Amino acid sequence: GTLLQVSGITQRFGGLVALDDVSLTVQRGTVHAVIGPNGSGKTTLLNVLSGAYRPQAGSVQLLGHELMGRRPSAIAVAGLSRTFQNIRLYKSMTVLDNVMVGGACRTRGGLWGILFGSKKRRQEEDTLRAEARQALAFVGLADLAERPAASLAYAQQRLLEIARALATKPQLLLLDEPAAGMNPQEAALLMQTIRRLRDRGITVIFVEHNVKLVMGVSDRVTVLDFGRKIAEGKPSEVQQSPAVIAAYLGRARAEASHA
Ligand code: ADP
Ligand code: MG
Repeated sequence: GTLLQVSGITQRFGGLVALDDVSLTVQRGTVHAVIGPNGSGKTTLLNVLSGAYRPQAGSVQLLGHELMGRRPSAIAVAGLSRTFQNIRLYKSMTVLDNVMVGGACRTRGGLWGILFGSKKRRQEEDTLRAEARQALAFVGLADLAERPAASLAYAQQRLLEIARALATKPQLLLLDEPAAGMNPQEAALLMQTIRRLRDRGITVIFVEHNVKLVMGVSDRVTVLDFGRKIAEGKPSEVQQSPAVIAAYLGRARAEASHA
């Protein structure tokens, strides 16, 4: 069935229309890729879904509940978690603590309660730590739990962000260019991890500008260009769409002529 129903989203910044009447439906238990050239509105879409931006029009429903107008923290509790295009970690904290911060949004005392709390809070903390270790094991970082986040290689930091998002026990996980900066081997491993997330019942929306990378892993692909949806379908369908080919070629030519 349908997990996420996005209808008629329009997001403007001054005179710029970053998203123009964008609608899409995401089925539960699928991997849904959002692709498009740079500046096409992919990150803006994730920012709308996670509540960071308030679009001028449209609606976002998770299992029939309206998310629009709710704060990002409330949306996270409703089951939507995300990672960022620019890695956002607490660099001096350990890998494990970074993941525990992710899980803390679900506890009664929150992060404050965990840091300064009572016995009950400490039991909550033990549970949180065990779950954080599971999330780290899932992305293959269990052995690095006690290291400072800053000491991790770039690809590992991206995996750590995913582990932190997982610790919130999301129904829907949004990943913004998770493979950015990775070499082909690391990216291939990441795609496997995305498939394993789906196998665990987590629905994944991930943003990527490299068309080839999404082909093996996505059940469905939505293509944006200049804030508009120009194609949608199975990866093989989208790859052959003239509109998609033109959008990518057009941007590539424009970038080449500026270089
Ligand atoms: P993508 O992630 O596909 O590369 P973005 O969603 O980041 O593209 O950006 C789409 C367009 O919206 C770009 O022109 C960008 O400059 C603009 N934009 C995004 N966020 C903001 C903002 N907070 N303020 C002004 N313009 C923005
Ligand atoms: Mg982006």
